[in-house]
Amino acid sequence: MIYLDYHATTPCDPRVIAAMLPYFGQHFANPASVDHVAGRSAAAAVAAARAQIANLINARPREIIFTSGATESNNLAILGVADGLVENSRRIVTTATEHKAVLEPCARLAQNGFDVVILPVDERGVVSLDAARTAINDDTCLVSIHAANNEVGTLQPIAEIAEIAHRHGALMHTDAAQAVGKVPVNVDVWDVDLLSLSGHKLYGPKGVGALYIRDGARNHRVMPRTFGGGQEWEIRPGTLNVPGIVGLGAACEIAAVERASEALRIAALRDLLEDLLRERVCELRINGNRDGRLPGNSSIVFSEVDAHTLLANLPGLALSTGSACTSGAIEPSHVLQAMGLSRDAAGATVRFGLGRYTTDEDVRSAVSQITSSLMAIR
Ligand SMILES: *Cc1c(COP(=O)(O)O)cnc(C)c1O
Repeated sequence: MIYLDYHATTPCDPRVIAAMLPYFGQHFANPASVDHVAGRSAAAAVAAARAQIANLINARPREIIFTSGATESNNLAILGVADGLVENSRRIVTTATEHKAVLEPCARLAQNGFDVVILPVDERGVVSLDAARTAINDDTCLVSIHAANNEVGTLQPIAEIAEIAHRHGALMHTDAAQAVGKVPVNVDVWDVDLLSLSGHKLYGPKGVGALYIRDGARNHRVMPRTFGGGQEWEIRPGTLNVPGIVGLGAACEIAAVERASEALRIAALRDLLEDLLRERVCELRINGNRDGRLPGNSSIVFSEVDAHTLLANLPGLALSTGSACTSGAIEPSHVLQAMGLSRDAAGATVRFGLGRYTTDEDVRSAVSQITSSLMAIR
């Protein structure tokens, strides 16, 4: 099996697994057990991981809150800001191409009387800055815009939007689950107040993530969603997932060292994939922003082909389509729809996600499998 679905999840790096293992066994203690050495050493491991994560995004360790992943981080950011409102600024601005873990909490708030504005994107999937300037006003409490899209890889102008948000006194959140470890992420360069990240999108374990909350906003402008044992400064209580946290820290440490060179290698493989496909398959259309996308992303329309049929004929490849089966019917993804793709183009879209363990051989083999499969079904 050639795995080309790195946007869905990434394998855990063996170095990350090695770092985690002792914390399932010998070092099992609860980091809240301050009365014995074992507890204090677990707490030290958590502190070290917090510093590794903070370092990767240029934050301070105390601004990192551990969660169960980006879904929870997004919910804590969005619902937590809504709960912390003191003034009557009930507008929230987001985009049409967010992950459901942003759109659904926003929809929930809309049901509760919040004024949720969903910004359009252009045909590349880039949010309109003009629309942002019009939508973000003095009644806006939060702007939530993802850093990198999980289907088409498009990168968003986060710093420009944060500037608009702050001019109106709103907080700026970004779902950076796809961006962290793939492109440079610096909370000060972007000037974001909140940032979500996920372990399993950057070669760490599943079920662990973090929310960055800029100093001063925690338990004041961002309120907790759960209540209990007081951990994580009471913003996200519950016994800490020590092995997961250690793994997330190790994954961030590796990314801090290897991200730049890895991105170059992966982008070159992605370009090879597109070049080979263009040579052998006519009519190749690439979705997204060619000038600003994730290094490992390629979202391709294979004209006149049903992507589900194509993938069913490719048992040796792990890929994903641009549509999902919702209640029995195949629906184009909301991302491709928002970018203006027709139903046919969306239905013919295949998402390629290349990553740390993708080789030149994998790419060449995938291309020949796809070309023969296309000949068989066309
Ligand atoms: C994967 C993903 C999420 C959800 O992350 P989990 O850690 O799986 O909850 C949210 N947003 C984006 C952009 C993602 O790619």
